[in-house]
This record gives sequence, C-alpha cells and structure tokens, in this order.
Amino acid sequence: MSGGPQKRSENDSRRVPVMLPYPFPGPFDYLVPPELTVAPGDVVLVPLNRREEVGVVWDAPPDRAVPDHKLKPLIGVLDTPPMREDLRRFIDWIASYTLSPPGEVMAMALRVARPAPLPTSGWQRIAPAPVGVRMTPARERVLAVLARAEPRGTGELARAAEVGTAVIRGMEQAGLLASVPIPAAPPFAQPDLDAGRPLLSEDQEQAAATLRQAVAERSFSVTLLDGVTGSGKTEVYLEAVAECLRQGRQALVLLPEIALSSQWLERFTRRFGVAPAVWHSDLTSRVRRTTWRAVAEGGAPVVVGARSALFLPFPDLGLIVVDEEHETAFKQEDGVVYHARDMAVVRARFCSAPAVLVSATPSLETVANVEAGRYARLHLPVRHGGAVLPRVEAIDLRITPPERGKFLSPPLVEAVQATLARGEQAMLFLNRRGYAPLTLCRHCGHRMQCPNCTAWLVEHRIRRELQCHHCGHTIPIPPECPACGAANSLTPVGPGVERITEEAAAWFPDARRLVMASDTIPGPDAAALAARAIEAREVDLIIGTQIVAKGWHFPHLTLVGVVDADLGLAGGDLRAAERTVQLLHQVAGRAGRAEAPGRVLLQTFSPEHPVMQALVRGDLEAFMASEAAQRRPGHWPPYGRLAALIVSADTGPEADALARDLGRAAPFGDGVTVLGPAPAPLSILRGRHRRRLLLKTRRDMAVQPILRDWLAKVPVPRGARVEVDVDPVSFM
Ligand code: ADP
Ligand code: ZN
Repeated sequence: MSGGPQKRSENDSRRVPVMLPYPFPGPFDYLVPPELTVAPGDVVLVPLNRREEVGVVWDAPPDRAVPDHKLKPLIGVLDTPPMREDLRRFIDWIASYTLSPPGEVMAMALRVARPAPLPTSGWQRIAPAPVGVRMTPARERVLAVLARAEPRGTGELARAAEVGTAVIRGMEQAGLLASVPIPAAPPFAQPDLDAGRPLLSEDQEQAAATLRQAVAERSFSVTLLDGVTGSGKTEVYLEAVAECLRQGRQALVLLPEIALSSQWLERFTRRFGVAPAVWHSDLTSRVRRTTWRAVAEGGAPVVVGARSALFLPFPDLGLIVVDEEHETAFKQEDGVVYHARDMAVVRARFCSAPAVLVSATPSLETVANVEAGRYARLHLPVRHGGAVLPRVEAIDLRITPPERGKFLSPPLVEAVQATLARGEQAMLFLNRRGYAPLTLCRHCGHRMQCPNCTAWLVEHRIRRELQCHHCGHTIPIPPECPACGAANSLTPVGPGVERITEEAAAWFPDARRLVMASDTIPGPDAAALAARAIEAREVDLIIGTQIVAKGWHFPHLTLVGVVDADLGLAGGDLRAAERTVQLLHQVAGRAGRAEAPGRVLLQTFSPEHPVMQALVRGDLEAFMASEAAQRRPGHWPPYGRLAALIVSADTGPEADALARDLGRAAPFGDGVTVLGPAPAPLSILRGRHRRRLLLKTRRDMAVQPILRDWLAKVPVPRGARVEVDVDPVSFM
C-alpha cells in the first residue's frame, strides 16, 4: 500500500471513518485490524450489507455513537494511489455547496478505482453472420454493443448488453462472435512543446505571456480569456498548457461536448505532436481504467474532458482551462447537481493552480466577476489573419414571409442560391430536432401528447415515429387520429431540422446536403467525419441544430441562415435573452474566414428586439450591460443568489401537499425571498408530478444554511422527493 504508516496516540481506538460511494449522510466507521495501517485517502475494501465495497478513508473525526464492538473491521487496503487531500477537500466542498450526500460526490471520483485484471482477449462480431442462426433480443443487444466499439471482454460485454455470460458463449458456438486479443493500451506520450508552435500576433503574445506567468506562479487565479470567434483564443491557452508542461505539471482542459471535439483534438495534436488523454462518460471501461490510473500516476500530462474530468485524481494539477465557459452543458442536472465551470474554479483553488475561462460570449456571471475584480480579463480584439467578422442582418418575417407551409423566406432562399452559385458553403440553423415539434389532427384538433410528460410528441419522419424529447417515449406515427379516428388527418405543425432539410432539397436540389443533429451525428466518429467532409468541400449546404454552434472552423462557409432567431426567447427564463445572443453569435461565428467575408441572416418576427439589435450591431458588450442593469435591482444572478427546490411525487395532490408544506416553512427575512410553490413548466415528467419553489437571496448571503434549516423543518413523505438545485440554469 502507499501513503505511509500513520502514528497514532495511545488512546486512539483503531477506528477510522470510511466514505462509501452511496448517498449516506457521511462516512461510516470501521475498525482497523492490527495487521493494517491506514491513512486518510487510502482506498479500502470494507464489508457493507454482506457485500464488499470500495471506500476511502476520510478525515472526519470518528463517530463515537456506535460502540467499538459493533463495528466491522476493514477487509484490506487496495493497491491504488490514495485519494489526495486536495481532491477530498474538493469533494467535501461540492457536497456542502450543492447539499449533496458526500458519498455520492465521491462516487464520481472513485468509480474506476478498483483494480481488476484487465482482460487480454475480447469478443468481436463475425460479419456477415452465418445464415440460419437464431436471433434473440439478448443476442441482438450483444451485437449492437459490439457494433459501436472495439472488442470487449466477457464481463464488460455481458454488463453492457444486459445478458448473462452464457448468451455470449452460446453466440461463440453459433459462430456469431470470435475471440480476439486486446492489446495493452499504450501509455500517453510526452507532448513536444515546440512541435507546432504558432507565431503569435502581438495581442496574442501579450495574452499568452500573462497566462504563462500565471502558470509559473503556481498559485490560484482566475482569468477570463475572451475575444471574437477566430481571434486565436485556443492558440493562446495552448501556450499556457505548454508552460504548465514545462513546469512538469498536469493540465486539464474542459470542453462542453467532448463528442464534438474532433477538430480540437486535431489542433492539439498539430500543436504538441501527440494526442491528449480524453475523458468522458462514453469510454469503454478498459480505457477509463487505464486513463484513470495514468492520471493518478502522473502519466497523463494533458487531459481533455467533459465535466466529470474534474474528479480525476491528478497528483499535480497546474492549470485548468474551461473552453466555451458560457455553455449550459457544463451544468450537470442529474445526480449531484453542479456547474462544472464554477467547480473548476474551486478545484483550481484547492490545488493552487490558475483557472482560465474562455469564450467569445462570456456568461454574465463571469463578466460580473471580472467587474468585481475577482477575475482578471485578457481580451483578443480581432480575428486572426485579417479575417473580418460576418455581417449580420435581420429578415423581418412580417414583411417577407415564407410561402404558405414553408419556413425559408425569399431573401434567405436567394442568399443561399447566390452563395451556392459562387461555389461557397451555406448553413441553415434551427435548434430543433426532428421533423415537427407538434402533430395535430385536422379534424378534431387533437394534439399528440406524451403520456408521461407535459410535452408534445415530436415527429421524426425518417424513423416514422413520434418521440418525447424528455422521457424518450416513442410510438409509430399512427395512421389515424387516436381521438376521432379520422384517417390521414394528422398534420405536422412547425419545423424541425428534418423539415427544413426537406424544404432545402426542394429549393436547392443540386446542393450536397449534410444534416448535423444529434440524430444524425451520434458520436465523436460521426462528428469527425462530418467536419472532414465539410472542410474538404464535399458538402454545399449544412443544416444543423445547436451542434453546429460548437467551435467548428469551416473555412469555406460564408453564409449562415438562422431559420427561427426568436426560438430561444420563448418561455422567458432568467437567461433566455443572454443564451439566445450567445448561441446565435456562436452560430454566426462559423461564417467567414480569411478568404471570404461571411454573412448571417436572422429570420425574426421582431427585428427591433434587443437581442436581434445586439447581433446586428455586433455589440454584445452593450447588450450584456443592459442585461446587467435589468438583473441588478431585483438581486437576480449574478447580483444575487438562487436555489430551486423541485418537489416531485406520483400524484398531483401529493406533490401539492409537500410543496405547500415547504411554502409554509419558507425562510423569510431581510434579503431573502421565496417564490412559489408553482407547478413546474414540465409539471409532469416521466410520470412524476412536479412543483417548484425558488429561493432568492442577496449575493452576500449563503443559500446553503438557509436551505438546510428549511429542509430540516419539512418531513418528506414516502414516494415524494425534494431535489435541490443551487444556482439553477434550467427552470423547467
Ligand atoms: P478562437 O479559439 O478564438 O475561435 P482559434 O485559436 O481557434 O480562435 O483560431 C482561429 C483560427 O486561426 C485557427 O484555425 C487557428 O489555427 C488560426 N490561428 C490563430 N492564431 C494563429 C496564429 N498566431 N498563427 C497561425 N494560425 C493562427
Ligand atoms: Zn415524455
């Protein structure tokens, strides 16, 4: 074991607190048998409910409530690097900030710690399958798992496909599977700091020098690196990464959607000659375990990952970069509800390292932190290489509406035609998956609704299905109206990307089209292929959802048409306007690079709206200032604090009763406001009835003690739940 022997005083009974990866309120005590010595951070095996569990020796003083003779002894110490103090403090901090059970937070850091022998051979499907072999749903699942990944060992394959190992053996005998050797994962190569070092412009060099300095100081700081799309922010923060490596420390880069990061990975490889370690939830367990180990042992100099990478066991983290810091994808909404951007700053503080937040459209939260002097700011004012920002114009749909039943207005159609005629690429953006968001019966007006959620079913015409985007409930498109029985009466209302693609095919029949939506781009490989096809000009017209807004460089793209610029403004949550500006500005930023200037057309019913005006004028700072002015007086974030309570129960009356009890016990006082209870906008989700309450306080107050007092006063009946969301992003 590691983490040397610990000296103990005479009267220290040999009991230690062990944090277990479950939502218990705190660690449990165990006895240390005489032959073992343990220290805080050691990863140990303990008995729990007649099973063996992996836990971590924690720092809390042992809990004397349970007498020694009732405690169970530790089983052993695992041969795994101990969990370091800075990670333990980080876990405690998140648990306390988010009001989550600490064991549940720790589980995110521990999931892969248990050393198990890695399989040396795995299963691969034999294609084509021999004729006449009986297919069962279980066998289908096994083949489906293998269709999208490298060979997997028996245990992992059985778990992933939810079958017994006998099914796998049976498939081998039937000639469906073959056993192949799995090579050991190669270690992560050492980056070459000078491999693809760019010649920085003066502005870029100044920013890079400041970041290098921050890294060299080896102390905590937070810097916002902002600048228009294409100004070289990535090149600049890679210089900070280089400095971190020069110091012999590890660097972590968080990206909002790692599945869409193929271009980023190529950039990194060009800059450093090697690929970084990648961390996200879709890795095979083999890659997860080897990567986790490599990080813990210092063998992974750079990790690029999704939010869960924050919980990796870095022994010497010297820099955390959060790219596209404004992205709401950094907020984790289930399990432990936390914001990875904010937690990255906390983690940086616990390991005395600088954090760099990067965006062309920073969040108001970060801007406010800069204004308050808490964060530093580095600004890159111009696009690299003399490229100009695209010209943004609004198309007033009241003046030039599309033809009946169509969604592209004449000016947009003409602009696309002209662009294609010049041999340049165009993009149509609509942030809505599927064919149509609503299906309606022309006879009786019946609307196709999800049986489990307060939501319409979305038509996916290619799959001939209606699907709920909240719970996944899917039905075939019915031939007749389920309410009145009329045949062929169901009509799509409104557009999704599939419908825009259909319309585009009619307008631009010769254009080579590519749809970029989560339905057509299911993973990193598909995203990389799509990006390459666009770069290689094998595509003329891209039609996409928000996937297309994510940091891509499409050098031949000169026109972006936003089909429904008003879409994100409906619903009106706190940040609707801010988010719409950020999203549309990011989409717009895909257009126009050095060679050809770009043009962006926004289809809108309200060109006078401040959001459209900000985009047309390209004046985001003025827009953010007016947002700030609106939020400040009411103490709305970031000038105040919010926490949401989401009550859910099997029936409406049960949810109402608990919400009412919480409402009656609501905190009050100077600087404290409680809004609600009110039905959640998604008042039924997956069959659960939901109510919301919102606590708002002044910024100089902490919401956690108020929440703890409040929740302690109200018993939660069986079957009901109260979820806590500190700093909520979604108000659904
Ligand atoms: P941002 O992250 O601000 O959008 P990038 O760092 O991605 O900007 O830069 C935009 C494009 O310009 C990229 O293709 C990048 O490689 C290129 N670029 C930026 N700065 C330089 C530089 N100093 N030398 C060469 N290419 C650069
Ligand atoms: Zn549903």
